[in-house]
Formats: sequence, structure tokens, C-alpha cells
Amino acid sequence: MAEFTLELNDDQKQVRDWLHGFAADVIRPAASEWDEREETPWPVIQEAAKAGIYSLDFYAQQFFDPTGLGIPMAMEELFWGDAGIALSIVGTGLAAVGVLANGTEEQIGTWIPQMYGDADDVKVAAFCSSEPDAGSDVASMRTRAVYDQAKDEWVLNGTKTWATNGGIAGVHVVVAVVDPELGSKGHASFIVPPNTPGLSQGQKFKKHGIRASHTAEVVLEDVRVPGHCLLGGKEKLDQRLARARERAASGGERVKNAAMATFEASRPAVGAMAVGTARAAYEVALDYAKTRTQFGRPIIDNQGIAFQLADMRTQIDAARLLVWRASWMATTGKPFTSAEGSMSKLYASETAKKVTAQAVQILGGNGFTREYPVERMHRDAAIYTIFEGTSEIQRLVIARTLSGMPIR
Ligand SMILES: Cc1cc2nc3c(=O)[nH]c(=O)nc-3n(C[C@H](O)[C@H](O)[C@H](O)COP(=O)(O)OP(=O)(O)OC[C@H]3O[C@@H](n4cnc5c(N)ncnc54)[C@H](O)[C@@H]3O)c2cc1C
Repeated sequence: MAEFTLELNDDQKQVRDWLHGFAADVIRPAASEWDEREETPWPVIQEAAKAGIYSLDFYAQQFFDPTGLGIPMAMEELFWGDAGIALSIVGTGLAAVGVLANGTEEQIGTWIPQMYGDADDVKVAAFCSSEPDAGSDVASMRTRAVYDQAKDEWVLNGTKTWATNGGIAGVHVVVAVVDPELGSKGHASFIVPPNTPGLSQGQKFKKHGIRASHTAEVVLEDVRVPGHCLLGGKEKLDQRLARARERAASGGERVKNAAMATFEASRPAVGAMAVGTARAAYEVALDYAKTRTQFGRPIIDNQGIAFQLADMRTQIDAARLLVWRASWMATTGKPFTSAEGSMSKLYASETAKKVTAQAVQILGGNGFTREYPVERMHRDAAIYTIFEGTSEIQRLVIARTLSGMPIR
């Protein structure tokens, strides 16, 4: 088991520098254009595929890094480049993790390569869980999956919303209700293969930030998928449902904790994205403060500016430490006794919002224009306190974990 360390090893440093180069040379220069266009940056995804960054191999290497620092380090560098483009590059990974976490070896081998396509014909994938009436309250999900035993097919009906890459993806991973009596324990995940009839894109959202990332509704009307598209398989599902029914009858506590552990393990990755955006804005603000002169001296000569920069950097470093701790805990199987995963996401996302707002202020009028990147970073940063569980939900999880009380 890897000891916790703040020192990246030589291999990790090499990967970090390589990613930073891609973020600085390819992602950052394209950021403004794709933000304005509000379209998926296919050429940049293709370049990432050619470089080996947009690929299952790369993602898996970071995911299985025994120190736990591979994913946060990669996320921080890519999102330092630009959040919207980076989400277009890593969005497929969210769907791939859904398959890695729940799929059989055969399903992993069949579907994940199709999610990425290849460098000459890149594809993206989507993970569809949220619904118009089931955001924070996942248990109120209504999309239904019904088994047609005669044909060994599942029939999916419902409307998903907020799906990153929804409708433009080849492979969609869809979470649906298989037993409405069991709340969130009665959910299962399905692969919807490319070009399956009945799946269509609903409205594409026009967003405040991360505008290079496609976000849309996904409508499922009598979507039929073969039995082998149920992630994990029917036998495992039947066993899981039987256990959930037994546990529901006797209080349900253990199942709830298992689901929470999964979220705790995935949330630090979002925290790392937020650290990347915050660091990017801080660096622009620091440079600006050293070179912008007012009253005959650089504005950083004023404590009012210098102290803000000191606080910004302190909070970014603190956020990274929380993210690295939680990622290391997830990889080494440490129990999240204080909801450390949620803590890292909460603190890093709130830090990104605050730091990017301060960066806009430090750049004055220029900060408010699209000539400088900080207004975009500030718009982008707003997403981190919303997706993968809002800040309020993180606080609920932390408070419940610390107190053992059913706080509402
Ligand atoms: C750009 C973007 C991309 C996304 N990508 C995906 C994706 O790929 N796949 C996917 O499945 N989903 C995705 N989501 C959905 C995202 O996870 C949800 O938006 C999020 O979980 C919040 O749900 P909601 O929007 O319905 O807000 P609501 O749950 O309606 O919350 C509204 C407000 O009420 C607060 N609130 C709710 N319940 C409580 C409570 N108990 N106590 C205190 N406050 C509470 C919330 O914190 C929030 O401030 C994405 C969202 C966005 C905006």
C-alpha cells in the first residue's frame, strides 16, 4: 500500500509536464474560441487522441496509479488549460468509470474502446443519471427499465437531463429504475449502444460557463437494449436487489454506506478540476498585479492586493492537499470516516469560485472583458459547486458523517 507523499515521483512529474505542455500549447490557445462557439471542440479532442491523452490507456494508467495522485494531477493540469475543453476531453471518462465500476470484464472490453473511438475517428460517451425532477434527490429518478424476458431485452423509457455529451455520444450509459420500491437501491446502469432507435437528444443547454462542453437532455422512448447491456449482468442484479430488499426490511444502513463510499472516492477528481481553474486564474492575477502600475507603483505594492494574492494561493494549496489526501484514501482503501472526499470537493469548488472572482477584481476593467481569460474562468468555476453534488449536498454528507444524525 502506497504511503502518503506530497512528492510526485519521476514518472508522475514527467506525465504532469507533458500534460501541462498540452494544456499550455493546445488547450489554452483554443479556449476563447470554443467558449464563444459553444460547441464541442472536436479538433482539440482529436489532437488529444493523437497525443495519447484522450484514450482509455491514459485514463486507466492514471486511475490505477497506486499513489492515488495520477487522476488529480492530470485533472488539475488539463483544467488549468481550460475547463470547457478539458471537460470535453475527460467527459467520456465519467461514462467509462460507470462501466469500470459496475461492468463485467467482457462489458469493459467491448464498450470502453467504443466510447473513445480512435484518433482518426474520435467518439465521445455520456453518463446519464440526472433527471428534471431528480437532481440532488437521485432516489426520485423515474426513468424506467423493464425486462422483456421473451426477447432477453430491456426497455428504457424516460427523460434524462444535464447529460455531458448527451445525444452527441456514441455510447450512452443510462441509470434507470428497475425496482421502484427500493429507491436508489433499485437503480441499475445500462449501455445504450450507438444508433439505438428511440434515444434522441432533447434541448441543448446554453450555459453560463464551460460552454465548450456539450450539455443536453436525452430522451428515451421505448429504447430496447439486449440483456447483455445491463452492467454487471442479470444474475448479479437479482442478487443485489434481493439483498437490498432484505436490508430495507432490517433498516437499510449498510447499503446506504456502500453507495456513499463510491461518491466519496469520485468527488476528489472534481475538486482537482476546481484546483486547476483556480490556479490558472491566480497565475494571471499575480502576473497582472506585478506589471500593472497605478499611483506610480505596481498594484501588488498595495497590501490590499498582495494579501488577496496571499490568501488565494494559500487556499489553492489547502484545496490541493485535501484533494490529494482524499484521492490517496480512495486508492488505498482507507475508510472515509469524516467524508474526506466530500470535504475536498466542497473546499476546492468554493475556493475556485472565490479565487476566480478575486482575479476578476485584481484585473479591474480588463478582468471584466473577454480580452483576458479570468472572466471565463470565473464563469467556468461556478459549475464546480453544482455538479457531482452541490456544495449544500457535500455539507449534508459531511455533517451526517460527523454527527451520525439524519440532518435534513
Ligand atoms: C454543466 C452540467 C453538466 C452536468 N453533467 C452531468 C452528467 O454528465 N450526468 C448527469 O447525470 N448529471 C450531470 N449534471 C447534473 C448535476 O449533477 C445536477 O445539476 C446536480 O446534481 C444538482 O441537481 P439539480 O440541478 O437538479 O439541482 P437541485 O437538486 O434542484 O438543487 C437546487 C438547489 O437546492 C439545493 N438543495 C437541494 N436539496 C437540498 C437539501 N437537502 N439541503 C440543502 N440544499 C438542497 C441545492 O444545493 C441547490 O442549491 C450536470 C449539470 C450541469 C449544470
